[in-house]
Amino acid sequence: MYLTMIGLEVHTHLTSLKTKLFCSCPSDYVGKPPNSNVCPVCLGLPGAIPVFNETALKFALMVGLALGSRISDRITFVRKHYFYPDMSKNYQISQYDGPGTEAVAMGGEVKLRDKKIRIRRINIEEDPAKSIYPTGSMLTSTYTMLDYNRSGVGMLEIVTEPDMSEPREAREFIEKLRSILEHLGVCDGSIEGAIRADANVSVEGGERVEVKNIGSAKDVESAITYEISRQRAAVSQGLGVRRETRHWDSERRVTVPLRTKETDEDYRYFPDPDLPPIQVTASLIEDIKSSMPELPDQRIQRFMAQYGINEYNATVLVMDKGLADFYERVTLHYNNYPKVASLLINDYLRWLNEKDMKISQSKAGPEQVAELLRMLENGTITIKIAKEFLPRMIYEGKSPRELMEATNMTALRDMTILEDIVNQVLAENPEVVKKAKADSKVIHFLVGQVMKKTGKRAEPETVYKLIEEKIARI
Ligand SMILES: [Zn+2]
Repeated sequence: MYLTMIGLEVHTHLTSLKTKLFCSCPSDYVGKPPNSNVCPVCLGLPGAIPVFNETALKFALMVGLALGSRISDRITFVRKHYFYPDMSKNYQISQYDGPGTEAVAMGGEVKLRDKKIRIRRINIEEDPAKSIYPTGSMLTSTYTMLDYNRSGVGMLEIVTEPDMSEPREAREFIEKLRSILEHLGVCDGSIEGAIRADANVSVEGGERVEVKNIGSAKDVESAITYEISRQRAAVSQGLGVRRETRHWDSERRVTVPLRTKETDEDYRYFPDPDLPPIQVTASLIEDIKSSMPELPDQRIQRFMAQYGINEYNATVLVMDKGLADFYERVTLHYNNYPKVASLLINDYLRWLNEKDMKISQSKAGPEQVAELLRMLENGTITIKIAKEFLPRMIYEGKSPRELMEATNMTALRDMTILEDIVNQVLAENPEVVKKAKADSKVIHFLVGQVMKKTGKRAEPETVYKLIEEKIARI
């Protein structure tokens, strides 16, 4: 087995910032007409002077403290030079931990299920403009258009040590980081492009390859999986793996060469003379520490203690802050907490994923979900019917009571009617009944027939018991 090393550079927009990092243009650029959200500073016009948005520092410090990083007492901005069409100044204002320059935070860690991933550093930086490829992809389009609405939007770059060895861990890292950022209230990870990552992947016997600009946690896992098998094949064929930067083509699900990797020297980092260094005072750090919100790991522990749910369910809920908030709102209306957790995780989430919806887009509110669970508990509807109601609640906003009245789907609890139907099914299927006497698994077929005749209004367990008793007496 080849040793594999994976490190990530995660770029996360500080979506909670009202304005861009160095000018007063709004940072919310999504859906705006191209190049409508710009000024001389974020267009990089000569003579325009950047002014630092200090809320970005506060957000960066919150992230640093949440990850247990060492906060620098002085931070500086550097110019990172490279020539690229989306970068009108030909440099990006960023941070760097070199001689005389300091990033906002160094070190720290993110705990995954069975591993700790060390953080190398956290930088504040500006996003470049967005390149648009009208006639295809980055590699195939015959021309490129530039939209500067995104130029200058505040980001954090969070760089890990190469502590991951499996693609799955990289996905889990990003999901956990996203949950931390959402709990801190600095980034809404559900906004398209708000969290992107570069993955550094190397296998034993080859050099490090960087895969640029991957758009989602799932794609990070796929890109790394692809890259590992490509590199292993190259090494085993004696071709070697050279140091380079590759691009993840999310349509074709492959990585393709982009350029041979720049070294840090190529970027000609130097302190930005327009932006004086900033002192980070102990009192600022204390202020932020005292107002830190509850973080995912604490919330998982609280969910287990307060709601009596297991660690797995608590983790699934908390990894999606929106879902965890929704869960807590349902528990205000219905107090069988483990039931709420299992309905959300096993059913509610599935219907959301089916249509690629966020929880905020669901039309079924906490009260409706609680009502559904209450109707199930007091036997008004069966579990099968509850499962049928759920997607209509989520997509159409119908309440369970409305659905029940419209479909006449109340549970069939009149045992004489149910017995009649069971007798009818047994009479209609004499051969199956014979088989069922020898093999109890066959009973499920008969249960299915009864369910069909009742329009799924019977409780399967009750029907099963009824059939079992009757067969024993035949
Ligand atoms: Zn601007």
